[in-house]
Amino acid sequence: MIKDACGVFGVCGHPDAAELTRLGLFALQHRGQESAGIFLKRNGTCECHKGMGLVGEVFRKLPKEWWKTEGQEMAIGHVRYSTSGKSTEVNAQPFAVEFDQWHLGVAHNGTLSNGAFWRKRLKRSGAIFQGDLDTEIILHLASQNHQEGDTPWASLEYALQRVEGAFSILALCEDGMMAARDPNGFRPLALGRIRDTGAIVVASETCAFDMMGAVYSRDVEPGELLFIKNDGSMRSEFLPPKPRKSHCIFEHVYFARPDSMVFGDSVYLARKKFGARLAMEHPVDADVVAPVPDSGTYAALGFAEASGIPFDVSIMRNHYIGRTFIKPSPDDRRTAVNMKLNPIREAVEGKSVCLVEDSIVRGNTSRERIRTLRESGARAVHMRISCPPHKCPCFYGIDFPSAEELIAHSNSIAEIAGQIGADSLAYLSLQGMLSCVSCPAEDYCHACFSGEYPVPVTPP
Ligand code: 5GP
Ligand code: MG
Repeated sequence: MIKDACGVFGVCGHPDAAELTRLGLFALQHRGQESAGIFLKRNGTCECHKGMGLVGEVFRKLPKEWWKTEGQEMAIGHVRYSTSGKSTEVNAQPFAVEFDQWHLGVAHNGTLSNGAFWRKRLKRSGAIFQGDLDTEIILHLASQNHQEGDTPWASLEYALQRVEGAFSILALCEDGMMAARDPNGFRPLALGRIRDTGAIVVASETCAFDMMGAVYSRDVEPGELLFIKNDGSMRSEFLPPKPRKSHCIFEHVYFARPDSMVFGDSVYLARKKFGARLAMEHPVDADVVAPVPDSGTYAALGFAEASGIPFDVSIMRNHYIGRTFIKPSPDDRRTAVNMKLNPIREAVEGKSVCLVEDSIVRGNTSRERIRTLRESGARAVHMRISCPPHKCPCFYGIDFPSAEELIAHSNSIAEIAGQIGADSLAYLSLQGMLSCVSCPAEDYCHACFSGEYPVPVTPP
């Protein structure tokens, strides 16, 4: 199964739609580093540019004049996360097709929990697929219900009523744009307006709005289909509601950027609260509180503030190396982790360090960090994790490995402490974590910790 934790951005009614989308994707780069693409409506028709690599690399190939061409109206863009091996051009998004008389582009963040079921059924009935994207499933379902001459919207709505799981989607054709979010609201999707021009922007995270003078208006609601026209007019429809919402709590733990608002909470404040709560639940006797950069920083700040132990930076991060989780083989990952993070001897020598990390997945990062901290003279390393143990895979779009690869799946906390070489190890409790964010506890998905899957996975 392909796991698409991604970022999407769209803008309507702006003569620099392409450039704004490029900026938006830059701000969302942390949500996907494998491929990037823009689907642009210009002079009444649509075109797509995409490729493998970071936003800067992919769009550098386009001539400067392209960004300034006249007649731009709307654009959507996508950054895609690396997945377990399936790193190919056909999976780059937006996915662009000809649909009746329309050029239709679709950008999707999330994973369908009945995607395997539909793919098999559609294939059996003769549907042809290019890659592994769930987007293709949605498009095939849409085409099955299409009435000649209609816009794609009713057909897409039909498709979205048949799929389950996580989807935050942007679609664009000559007729306008659609922004849609699954009824559980697994992945974020925020709506904003550019101050000067009134142009409408939609993004996975609000951090994409700040740099272009856009203000956050509200989230696209769970189950909402929002149809946006070039003149800024909007019309909403809703998919049949689900009994509960299922916002991904891991967006707050790790995935989203701290300068974003996600599910109504500041990611920065949520992370600091996780750290403060962790300090309350699992106090430690240490000389310094230090984060594993960068993801552990905000929880470490909260931990230090709440415990009164001074915060210090014990590990230096090399900013010219990307996210290490992405590397396909364990050896690659280990080398990359050590190139990326290096202890500062003068900060740790002779000290008892409380090392705060946002999460342990396979355990490689923590093991290497503790080993190198000791080599640099740390007297003790106590590890504190700002979420509960990761025991179960995600079927809604976070690229966690299979259960067997998750260190907490088959090891107790004491065993993990032994394997990573920590003097002590403790995790934030599930209840504690949920008390730090503002929606009711039952409105979050925490399946990766609890194994309680809010939407069942339909087998193929
Ligand atoms: P581990 O080495 O235990 O497998 O990975 C833990 C590290 O990976 C932590 O530093 C955490 O911030 C980071 N991490 C956790 N989940 C993800 C993810 O989905 N993607 C990426 N790139 N990193 C992750
Ligand atoms: Mg990290």
